Amino acid sequence: MLDQYGRQIRYLRVSVTDRCDLRCRYCMPEDGVEWVEHSRILTYEQIVRLVRLAAELGVDTVRLTGGEPLVRRGLDRLVAALKAVDGIRAVALTTNGVRLAEQLPALRSAGLDGVNLSLDTLDRGQYAAITRRDRLPEALAGLKAALAVPGLRVKLNCVPLAENRDQWAPLAALARDRALDVRFIELMPIGLGAAMTGAGQEEVLSRLEEAFGPALPCPQGGGGGPARYVTFAGFTGRVGFISAVSHRFCERCNRVRLTAGGFLKTCLQYDKGVDLKALLDAGADDGALRAAMAEAIFAKPACHHFSAPGTAEDEGRSMYQIGG
Ligand code: SAM
Ligand code: SF4
Repeated sequence: MLDQYGRQIRYLRVSVTDRCDLRCRYCMPEDGVEWVEHSRILTYEQIVRLVRLAAELGVDTVRLTGGEPLVRRGLDRLVAALKAVDGIRAVALTTNGVRLAEQLPALRSAGLDGVNLSLDTLDRGQYAAITRRDRLPEALAGLKAALAVPGLRVKLNCVPLAENRDQWAPLAALARDRALDVRFIELMPIGLGAAMTGAGQEEVLSRLEEAFGPALPCPQGGGGGPARYVTFAGFTGRVGFISAVSHRFCERCNRVRLTAGGFLKTCLQYDKGVDLKALLDAGADDGALRAAMAEAIFAKPACHHFSAPGTAEDEGRSMYQIGG
């Protein structure tokens, strides 16, 4: 469906949990995390129902996220059920990759179309410092497993920070010999990210150009997502930039988000949307749920205001609660 600004909303990010097996410094505190109670987390049946209604409103692509989606048991069952929803063309996953190798066969059999793997460094010590967990070998095993699956769309996402500056080129180089998209996602001032300084697109690009020569234009493709891609001489894959802060793309935004607690969020930075879990708990029928979703989507805010945060409507949730 179209929102009030004429944007076609067809992409739904679904957070299946706020739990995670890492503690990335820009996303989660080390301890003292206030988890959403289990009874407040949407069941798989509720997620499938809400996705079916979203599909009736024009959503055709679902991305499962979290927290870490692979810590929730039986995710392959959810993938299979979502793939069976009329109108859903693609179901993908965003993961830290730590548990991917063991779960990928079942997820792929269930019909998973793509995996975005978040990896900020190839250096084990740096990985442990950024994620507060020494699990790089497992994350790399997940990446290797994903790259070995024929036809699975794989992307690698890195948040460029001062501390992983020396890793931007080695990460981008993973796209040299394989048809992999390596994307640099600007740190956003959400949750703990607000207190940290990330690197911008220009800084990353100029470092990559020092390493690989001038960036070359390449086909964009990819269904109207926010990334802008370049490539380098001798590269098979692409290098992308998702630069919500320095090059905002709100006028092209095609997405809404469903939190693990059942809140349909219509803009990353605003606490705007509708509490679908409350409606479910109150016994709302499909018509009432669909109408509430349509009303919230129509009212989607025009744009974030990352460069001037501080309004009363700002999002209070952190990224692990929203799903990225
Ligand atoms: N645990 C999974 C993972 O890490 O891929 C899925 C959830 S995580 C919240 C989704 C993405 O959000 C990750 O790529 C992570 O790097 C990114 N992220 C978390 N906090 C961020 C922030 N403040 N700014 C930009 N990206 C952020
Ligand atoms: Fe967990 Fe992903 Fe947040 Fe890291 S970015 S703490 S892996 S949810």
